[in-house]
Amino acid sequence: MDGSGVPRTVAERLYYDLDAALEFQAVVTGLRSGGREGGSDGQGKPLWHLALDRTAFYPAGGGQPWDQGLLLATLPNAETLRVEVERVEEDAAGQVWHAVWEPVAVGAPVLGRVDAERRMDHAQQHSGQHLLSAMFLRELGLPTVSFHLGAQSVTIDLKAEMICPEDLARVEDAVNRVIFEDRRMLSRWVEREEAEQMLARGELRKLPERAGPIRIVQMEGVESNACGGTHVRSTGAIGGLLVRRVEKVRQGQRVEFCCGLRAVRAARSDLARLRESGALLSVGPAELAGRVAGLMEDRKQRAKERKLLERQIKELEDRLRASSQQRRRGDEGSEQG
Ligand SMILES: [Zn+2]
Repeated sequence: MDGSGVPRTVAERLYYDLDAALEFQAVVTGLRSGGREGGSDGQGKPLWHLALDRTAFYPAGGGQPWDQGLLLATLPNAETLRVEVERVEEDAAGQVWHAVWEPVAVGAPVLGRVDAERRMDHAQQHSGQHLLSAMFLRELGLPTVSFHLGAQSVTIDLKAEMICPEDLARVEDAVNRVIFEDRRMLSRWVEREEAEQMLARGELRKLPERAGPIRIVQMEGVESNACGGTHVRSTGAIGGLLVRRVEKVRQGQRVEFCCGLRAVRAARSDLARLRESGALLSVGPAELAGRVAGLMEDRKQRAKERKLLERQIKELEDRLRASSQQRRRGDEGSEQG
């Protein structure tokens, strides 16, 4: 510490090891005020940022959101202070800061506990992205240009003009086969020089700008990536991948997909919606499209018939008007005569 609340050394990142536990012991090495957050009047609660000597919390980066969880700090009076980790960020110097609602003094021992469900969800979507991008490249020669992992949707953007449904299904099947094969995922560090040689041999698609050793994450027999994110230990844990949508964007084609429980939940809610719509029309999900097409045809036919009837009514009205005018003129003529 240099008195500014900022520790001199950055935290050891336990999450780089794919087998690392989500619970870990650490010591607080830095504390700084994070301003106030929340509240409609701008006078929200004070937020604090904690640095630790080691952490299993993943900070936001590479299109992937941060881990959440708990820190249990041991106070000087031996009591335990429980603080929730709201957010985790990395600063320009590479320090990891844990945003919490209570300050914890520098030097305090803490027990960290990463939220396992959120971590698994992110690791599944992120590892699934590696695999999906690899299969788009292998099967269709389409490179991925960006990745986004949100709470609602996960997308990659591909450098592509268009993707036909048959090709999309082929890629989706290829991805799920690698998931069943339960390939191991490995992580190791290499010197920049070696990483550049891997890039030159086509074993890596790109390298980060920064100097120093590079972390390589390998999906055995599939691909290698220079990546700092969190991953599953073998592809089986991705649990399955479902493509949800493809749409045109400025830089190519955006593919929305989901993995693991997200895929199960998405399929479940789609089916519930189909059943609900089917119940309104008294058909099962399989007959729904045919029934809707029939109804649309019916509606078109009725619109045609209605137009015809309206024209006939108008003609009748015109004729009635004309004959009553004629009759009036005839009456006027006989009065004069
Ligand atoms: Zn990765």
